[in-house]
Amino acid sequence: MSSMKNCEIIEKLYKTQSADFDEILTLLRDYDIEPIRQMLFEKSAEVTEKHFQKKIYIRGLIEYSNICKNDCYYCGIRRSNENAVRYRLTKDEIYTSCENGYRLGFRTFVLQGGEDGFFNDELVCEIISEIKRRYPECAVTLSMGEKSYDSYKSFYNCGADRYLLRHESINRTHYSMLHPKELSIEKRVECLKALKEIGYQTGCGFMVGSPYQTMENIAEDIMFIKDFKPHMIGVGPFISHKDTPFKSFGNGSYRLTVFILGILRLMNPNALIPATTALNSISKSGRTEGLKAGANVIMPNLSPVDVRDKYSLYNGKLSTGIEGGESIFALQEEVKKAGFEISFERGDYKEK
Ligand code: SAH
Repeated sequence: MSSMKNCEIIEKLYKTQSADFDEILTLLRDYDIEPIRQMLFEKSAEVTEKHFQKKIYIRGLIEYSNICKNDCYYCGIRRSNENAVRYRLTKDEIYTSCENGYRLGFRTFVLQGGEDGFFNDELVCEIISEIKRRYPECAVTLSMGEKSYDSYKSFYNCGADRYLLRHESINRTHYSMLHPKELSIEKRVECLKALKEIGYQTGCGFMVGSPYQTMENIAEDIMFIKDFKPHMIGVGPFISHKDTPFKSFGNGSYRLTVFILGILRLMNPNALIPATTALNSISKSGRTEGLKAGANVIMPNLSPVDVRDKYSLYNGKLSTGIEGGESIFALQEEVKKAGFEISFERGDYKEK
């Protein structure tokens, strides 16, 4: 009965790139039904191929600091986690990470970190400018949390091209169950709008299976994303971290996450969507299944090897082996086996 309905919803998503909240919810509820999955992935793969052929873009992730003033309940580098071994990279370590990545073929560098006040506007601008001076043809992506409009603007003026800031949950009640009261979804959305207005290619996203999340919440997040029209969409499973208030919660569902990637692809045909490290950390086939469902970006780790374990957002986070930038050639093989090919282009967002 509902599978019949779901075939129609998938067909509608395919034809119109849209559906209403109730339809998304109906579809989500059947995420574990095999024929529905197959139909969804068949369509989402077709749409991905139409817009990107077989190309998978790579981004080199540089986790510049795990010092954070925030206390997000899910995150392993939250302020209150006294077991976290803190570090921050020096400018030279950041540049060396870029150089290593550049030699391996990376043309996007993602600077991600906690909200660490040491990296003030002046320092961030200096780092962006220097990376752009050394590698003018490369894209710089920032993922450093909430900042003022003026800070975002000055980073952009220094040459930053893209910004990743997951909205985490568009439902105000749910958002407040994941974050301390200093953080609000209103502020998040304000930041996201500012980023877009300034001209960044902007990414939002959320975790699947975070504590207290309902299917309705996920449907709301999917509808928000459709409405916001981000250039990039980061969605991965929640993974419990032993030193957080959420230590006794289970991980998000792998199969649900992959299913959501398929829906997001149908609704946002030209968005850049990563097969996240978190997805790959909960399942060996995470990356390839993610790509087959419609993801088209992989973000290998370029941080100095000795700090990688310390950027521990969740338990079992992979950062070496095939997740390491240095393994790009092994990754190339894996991607090829899955039927895709790594592109060494910058891979900017393209309108249609
Ligand atoms: N401080 C930056 C970077 C955060 S880390 C910022 O606020 O944007 C990047 C993403 O990792 C977060 O947006 C969050 O969605 C994800 N993350 C954090 N803890 C996680 C966990 N336990 N499981 C899965 N993903 C997590």
